[in-house]
Amino acid sequence: MGANEYVKKRFGRYMDECTKEEIYIGLLEYVKEKAKEKESNQGKKKLYYISAEFLIGKLLSNNLINLGLYDEVKQELEKCGKSMAEIEEIELEPSLGNGGLGRLAACFLDSIATLGLNGDGVGLNYHLGLFRQVFENNLQKEVPNPWLTDQSWLTKTDKTYRVHFGGFSVQSRMYDIDVVGYENRTTKLHLFDIESVDESLVQDGISFDKTQFEKNLTLFLYPDDSDENGRLLRVYQQYFMVSNAARLILEECEQKGSNLYDLADYAVIQINDTHPTMVIPELIRLLMARGLTMDEAIDVTSKTCAYTNHTILAEALEKWPMHFMQQAVPHLVPIIYELNNRVNKKYNDPSVAIIKDQCVCMAHIDIHYGISVNGVAALHTDILKDTELNNFYKLYPEKFNNKTNGITFRRWLLYCNPQLAAYIEKLIGPDFKKDASCLEKLEGYANDSEVLDKLLDIKKERKVILKDYLKHTQNVDLDVDSVFDIQVKRLHEYKRQQMNALYVIHKYFEIKNGKKPKRPITVIFGAKAAPAYTIAKDIIHLILCLSEVISKDPQVSPYLKVVMVENYNVTLAEKLIPACDISEQISLASKEASGTSNMKFMLNGAVTLGTKDGANVEIADLVGEDNIFTFGDSSQTVIDRYAREDYVAKDYYEKDEKIKEAVDFIVSDEMKAVGCSENLNRLYDELLNKDWFMTFPDFEDYITVKDKALDAYEDRKAWAKMMLVNISKAGFFSADRTIEQYNDEIWKLEK
Ligand SMILES: *Cc1c(COP(=O)(O)O)cnc(C)c1O
Repeated sequence: MGANEYVKKRFGRYMDECTKEEIYIGLLEYVKEKAKEKESNQGKKKLYYISAEFLIGKLLSNNLINLGLYDEVKQELEKCGKSMAEIEEIELEPSLGNGGLGRLAACFLDSIATLGLNGDGVGLNYHLGLFRQVFENNLQKEVPNPWLTDQSWLTKTDKTYRVHFGGFSVQSRMYDIDVVGYENRTTKLHLFDIESVDESLVQDGISFDKTQFEKNLTLFLYPDDSDENGRLLRVYQQYFMVSNAARLILEECEQKGSNLYDLADYAVIQINDTHPTMVIPELIRLLMARGLTMDEAIDVTSKTCAYTNHTILAEALEKWPMHFMQQAVPHLVPIIYELNNRVNKKYNDPSVAIIKDQCVCMAHIDIHYGISVNGVAALHTDILKDTELNNFYKLYPEKFNNKTNGITFRRWLLYCNPQLAAYIEKLIGPDFKKDASCLEKLEGYANDSEVLDKLLDIKKERKVILKDYLKHTQNVDLDVDSVFDIQVKRLHEYKRQQMNALYVIHKYFEIKNGKKPKRPITVIFGAKAAPAYTIAKDIIHLILCLSEVISKDPQVSPYLKVVMVENYNVTLAEKLIPACDISEQISLASKEASGTSNMKFMLNGAVTLGTKDGANVEIADLVGEDNIFTFGDSSQTVIDRYAREDYVAKDYYEKDEKIKEAVDFIVSDEMKAVGCSENLNRLYDELLNKDWFMTFPDFEDYITVKDKALDAYEDRKAWAKMMLVNISKAGFFSADRTIEQYNDEIWKLEK
């Protein structure tokens, strides 16, 4: 049955007589039906990818593409005078993730299904997501982001468990989202929820009573952890997630015939960052409850779990106070002590202990009691081995391995940039859709003038689409003949949006002094800041104030525009990335584990302006120094400087006129006229007296290289050639490649 027939059966009318909402519901149910018909891998061994975040984005179009139904549905819609875009607008984007880590989990599920592997995702069904960002008075404000509607991608299952905490228990229920692979099988994303959740607990903005666990457990992803109650709530959430996961895993494995001693033949658990770490003691506990001894339970669990490390930022490696554990999960405490005792007995090295200063180091549990520890880009894994986790690497060299991140090309090319995808197909045929390395065939066109012109035309077309979209949704005006310089990612000092903002101020002064750029520049930012991360929110304030000051200055505004899009999410990324000319990847070298937006931009023909950090290093190796703009201190220089502890921001400020001029402007009268003194002063002080992520040492080089990139942009043919080389080398960053490596080296699932 076709989509239109399905809608007729559902609503008694064909699409041309339905409202957009009805069409959306009809298509949603149609896709769910079709997904049901797809087979899934029923092999003996199964992967459970446990993650606190799954930033899945809207699903309708992607599912249609993967099911091979997109063109048919699009034509049906057009026949009755409707567009896919109008229908897509009805769907709400779930904000079940924060940034790259959650988006990675979503890309991985797509590749697992596409490759036909037997693997499901397990996470939580946060009713109000992370938060929705709104700007008021040039400040970020957080409001709830509800996304659950009567008809949604979730399917209620009859799987429920009673989950026990210290002093009370809750009833859980599992909801499933189908993950349809591209022209292949399906798998599932299992999201657990509590039956007793109460959204009315949320008062003003995103604040709520953090002590009522039976009502608040699945309200928000990452509740504000600036106070003790918020941190404690995260522990409850994490245990809730993994207790459900562990029981699901044991149940499924026993059903397939496991005697539990052979659990590792039936299950492999990928622990995505430290949030799901408690699955280890929980599995041990459950195995013992089923009759295994402590030794046996530890042995079985240790053969089943694998850990992915996503960051070397010390503050992000979770350490939970023992008294939190006592309160939330007292039944795990004896097991955690036992795990710690065994480590101490064996190694007698306090740096690798699990319990330190009465805190539980979650990553240490993962490393001691798992089969694998992987970093997410070559440089990141090297830093883990050589520096950050060196003491562990010396104990377990065989456990350490690298899996450079990837992205799904279905969403980040076929869906988000059909104009480019169609043109690539015209040039090299359709093979690249299944085998991304085929993109290299594009290199044969590097000197083909017609092809290069067409790439520029497509980029222009995408800029027009972005202009129309931002006008329609956020009332922003863009000049499509300007250079689009884009930095979109979570707001964090290590990602250095502040350095980009300082560049904008520098350009502002140049223009005021009569040095006009050859072509207008549009600098676009998109970023959410964690609600309790004060300096990150001050940086957003800086950018919004700059945007206002510049747009009101007739001397500068024809040449320079700053745009900060509101509520950056997957939907916006899908519009921004295809329209980008310069991809800003300017983290302090050694701090960005991998980055994945750098890959999305490259695939869509943007040229990277970046530091030699994370996967930028691998991008540079692939495209060659002529096709990327790199700058700044090397990761080793940065690591050494931190070790010496001799960085003094003020010395740079006093010696470098450009730095002084830009930093002083933050607290100028012009800025204070549109902004808030408290925020601007605080940021000024932070930069001048701390600048922990070392923007000043890289600033001169950043200006020089960014100006070089802007100059290079003026040779349109040469620029188009760089675009082409970047697209042709992007194949390595397909998540299909990443997942093949996980499977070959860690999971070992049958196809
Ligand atoms: C890809 C993606 C990210 C990750 O961006 P990085 O620049 O790699 O940090 C974050 N948010 C969204 C919405 C994304 O699509």
